[in-house]
Amino acid sequence: MNAPENSLPAANDTLARYEIFDTQPEAAFDDIARRAAEALRAPMAGISFFDSGGEQQEGREWREWREWFKARHHLPFTELSAADCFFLPARLPAKRAQKPFVVPDALADKRLRDHPLVSGPPYLCFYAGSGIFSRANELIGVLSVFDTVARDLTASDMEALTNLATMLGARLEARAEARRERRLHAPAITQEINAATSAEQRIEHLTAEFVRMENLLEDEIAIRQAAEDKLRTEKEFSDAAIQSLPGSFYMFDTDGRMVRWNASFQQNTGYSAEEIGAKHALDFIADSDRATVADAMRRIFEHGDEISMEAQMRHRDGNTAPYSFHGRPLDIDGKRYCLGVGRDISERKKSEHEIRAAKEQLDFALAGSSLALWDWDVVHDTVYFNQGWGTLLGNVPVEARYRGEEVIAHCHRDDAERFRAGLLHALRGENNDLNVEYRTATDNGEWVWVHTRGKVTERDQAGRAKRMTGTSANITKRKLAEERAEFLATRDSLTGLPNRLLLNDRLEQGIASAARKRLRLAFMFIDLDRFKTINDSLGHDVGDELLKRVAARLSACIRSNDTVARLGGDEFAVILEDIAVDDDEGAQNVAEKMIASLASPILINNQHLNTSCSIGIGLFPSDGMDSQTLMKHADVAMYDAKAKGRNNFQFFSHEMNARAQDRLSTENYLRLALRRDELILHYQPRVSFATGRVTGVEALIRWQHPRRGLLLPDKFIGVAEDSGLIMPIGEWVIETAFNQLAEWHKKGNPDLQLAVNLSPGQIFDGERLIRAISACAAAASLDMRTVELELTESMLLKNIDDTAALLNRLGELGVSIAIDDFGTGYSSLSYLKQLPVDSIKVDSSFVRDIGTDPNDEAIITAIIAMTHSLKLNVVAEGVETEDQYRVLRDLGCDEYQGFFFAKPLPPAEFEAQFLDSN
Ligand code: C2E
Ligand code: CA
Ligand code: CA
Repeated sequence: MNAPENSLPAANDTLARYEIFDTQPEAAFDDIARRAAEALRAPMAGISFFDSGGEQQEGREWREWREWFKARHHLPFTELSAADCFFLPARLPAKRAQKPFVVPDALADKRLRDHPLVSGPPYLCFYAGSGIFSRANELIGVLSVFDTVARDLTASDMEALTNLATMLGARLEARAEARRERRLHAPAITQEINAATSAEQRIEHLTAEFVRMENLLEDEIAIRQAAEDKLRTEKEFSDAAIQSLPGSFYMFDTDGRMVRWNASFQQNTGYSAEEIGAKHALDFIADSDRATVADAMRRIFEHGDEISMEAQMRHRDGNTAPYSFHGRPLDIDGKRYCLGVGRDISERKKSEHEIRAAKEQLDFALAGSSLALWDWDVVHDTVYFNQGWGTLLGNVPVEARYRGEEVIAHCHRDDAERFRAGLLHALRGENNDLNVEYRTATDNGEWVWVHTRGKVTERDQAGRAKRMTGTSANITKRKLAEERAEFLATRDSLTGLPNRLLLNDRLEQGIASAARKRLRLAFMFIDLDRFKTINDSLGHDVGDELLKRVAARLSACIRSNDTVARLGGDEFAVILEDIAVDDDEGAQNVAEKMIASLASPILINNQHLNTSCSIGIGLFPSDGMDSQTLMKHADVAMYDAKAKGRNNFQFFSHEMNARAQDRLSTENYLRLALRRDELILHYQPRVSFATGRVTGVEALIRWQHPRRGLLLPDKFIGVAEDSGLIMPIGEWVIETAFNQLAEWHKKGNPDLQLAVNLSPGQIFDGERLIRAISACAAAASLDMRTVELELTESMLLKNIDDTAALLNRLGELGVSIAIDDFGTGYSSLSYLKQLPVDSIKVDSSFVRDIGTDPNDEAIITAIIAMTHSLKLNVVAEGVETEDQYRVLRDLGCDEYQGFFFAKPLPPAEFEAQFLDSN
């Protein structure tokens, strides 16, 4: 490797010696180019040589040279100027050319970014080139590999490329040598009388032709010989090649006379060289195949065909073995020969047989199950489906093959994207498995739900999926059951209309879609006028029937993509979608139609019932950009319609909203709610750490709002307190909870404790509170010792003397007192000593951070120590996890409440889960 520092590519005389320039393509070179592409898994490769382009290369800049491609594997160009050459500019002087040149990403390489073949077609993005050198170590050309995507080369890729380039050097050398030899001996050969000898010599020159059939071997030999420089003549080379071929090489003439064969042929057949020489080619073929082989030989000789076939070969010992033969004609001096290689394929045949047997077994097993089996050859994009696929779809049970896209094309429109995404994830290895459910069409055009699972079972070195295999099952029945279950969960059981759940869902979707399409959407609340009267006077059956008829009439007023839902009672809601921005009457027309549709009497049980409705309408986006606001405003408009004398509709207006803030505020609704029995209590159990048993229950208020659903106290307790409504509401809570507790006591839970939350207003009017408690306890015949009242720290501390007095009086009644949200008041805890308190409830904020904030644990420890020293009971609130539960138990807490044990529940559920009932 002692090339001069600034050596240019080999001079023209070297190339002339190689006789390579502007010559026809040669199979040997094409092969190497193809194999370079294959070795590096790239689509394009080429072998090029550098030429000064003329005799007088002296004084010409290398830039003026050209790069000429002797072999092109899918390369769309035949030559490049040296300046456009990928390899040269980066690898001069030649010393540097010893190393391969690799550009993983041409777009990220400033030298190549603007190269015309990078920025334009074929949009090359990756390049790897390894120099080809003459025996004198001059750079003469390059073996190049190209790709249109960026990529990295592994060390073994590089080695393969370098080896192939070295081999090219050796090939050139051998080729030149052979030509020289041939020229020297050419006159002598023509004088040869013995045609067979002459033919044999010539054949030796031409064995390079069949080397193509044994690619691998040639590599090794060529590389080895180049390295050892032992390849002196092409004769030696071809002899070695023929002899070391793993297959049986043979050559015979048109008479079937064996002219040449290799050692393998002798070994495999068991005949000696003399015996072979005396035989006819067909003597080596089993009787059963002789006619076919004879026919193939005829085609080779008469038509010049190149033939591959399988036939039984007969050995000397009389045994036969399956062989695969490849044969082709070779013309030498006007005489035709057949040249070929045979390979014993017994092993392959055996494994083919085994595979077929295994497949039959598998098919048999699968036929019994309802699974279909598929196997996707990703490289050639063919998906094989076994018969089970047809069976599964209810089609004719035959094996089938599709392309990947065809499978997706059969998919339901709504499932195709999901299916494709699942496939891509699995192919790219982002998900190990494919696991999708989709609909596919049967031959009858029906949709069948299919559950498909699969795995990539083969990848190439670069990690690209080559093969994917899996199973498919028909899950239509299960899907239908699921759909049915979903239908039931989202429908109102009386009318079959969508329920609140589905309405909310559709409204969210409708708003999103309207925003996307820049359209309007109308939301309506509809309330039947005087329904309660009919229901109460004529009975529930009539009421139910009436609701069904109303539902049908309302539904008849809308288009198919609109929604009418029943929210419960006599409340309905409507979503009108896709209203054009300039369509001011769309919603109004529907509202008018609905009012008109209820105008004619409804006949039930021979009675003509008259009903009407009030409608409130909110428009997206003007009356609200989100579902909550839109619903609230439609509600305001509905109340306005009621106030305007019923049987009419009103659009929401901001002026109406201002009025509503005032007149139709939550307060008024709440007042109404109290009257319409929309307030309810939920019950959350309190559990003893020591026994694990439910010791008590806390009553927590909820508002079953006819249109907004179940509201939690934070949505309305504030308003109730501000407006004074808390007094009647608080009394309702006491009455309802006491009655409930008394009932549970009677049912066999006499020790169950009840906790009721109090508001500041109730403490403020202590007299009224004591009156309410006494009256309700008496009415329910309740032992007041089972009742506990919960007050917060801040309520107690406002006027501590008055509070103490009130608490003492309550204590005399027998009720206990608990301090709620303990620890949030930031006050001195000394007041505890001054007040007749029985227990404290540690605020959930301390519980929440147990395990993450050591301070909280310390605080709880301190609280427990202090309260225990005062002989108070400690309850932990908001216990959600097992960890929290354990820590609190270990710290010595007495009782706890929280989702970890149970959420607040409606009374019936609470009773069913936690109480005895008899
Ligand atoms: P609170 O008295 O502190 O009630 C405990 C709250 O914590 C309840 O919320 C309960 O549902 C919730 N909760 C229970 N366990 C867990 C848990 O494990 N994790 C979490 N994150 N939360 C839990 P709710 O029912 O929303 O009540 C909120 C507040 O409203 C109550 O706080 C109480 O101050 C007030 N309140 C409830 N009912 C009444 C009532 O009848 N009258 C009055 N004046 N206030 C009430
Ligand atoms: Ca409470
Ligand atoms: Ca609390």
